[in-house]
Amino acid sequence: MASIYRGSCLCGQVSFEASGFSDKAAACHCTMCRKFHGAAFGTLVEAMQFKWVSGEGLLQDYKADNGTVRTFCRNCGSSLGFRSEGAGFDAFEVAIACFDDDIPVKIDAHIYTANKACWVEPDGQVPNHAEGRP
Ligand SMILES: [Zn+2]
Ligand SMILES: [Zn+2]
Repeated sequence: MASIYRGSCLCGQVSFEASGFSDKAAACHCTMCRKFHGAAFGTLVEAMQFKWVSGEGLLQDYKADNGTVRTFCRNCGSSLGFRSEGAGFDAFEVAIACFDDDIPVKIDAHIYTANKACWVEPDGQVPNHAEGRP
């Protein structure tokens, strides 16, 4: 029996679920992720059978200058995820911090560490890449 993993935004109006995950979950230190997530890095994972359960009307997209699209809750501002230019939610990478259930995901790489904040050091447990995955 497949598990269903649930997540939501801070105000709880947007909720979603997924049935599994890619084994790749990078912590991205690029400037855009840092600002969008308001954090040292954003951690995103491709989720299988991802779907919105509630609050789809509150989703707002922000399209960056390079065409990448980041989605957040218009009510509470929670950063929900990322997709490439022109991609749909079938290719959505979910911000793993928004899952309410424990998920079988571990950070497997730090990427764009050339852009990292001076006040954070990746722990050295997983590979660091100055830019994207090689
Ligand atoms: Zn919200
Ligand atoms: Zn990034």
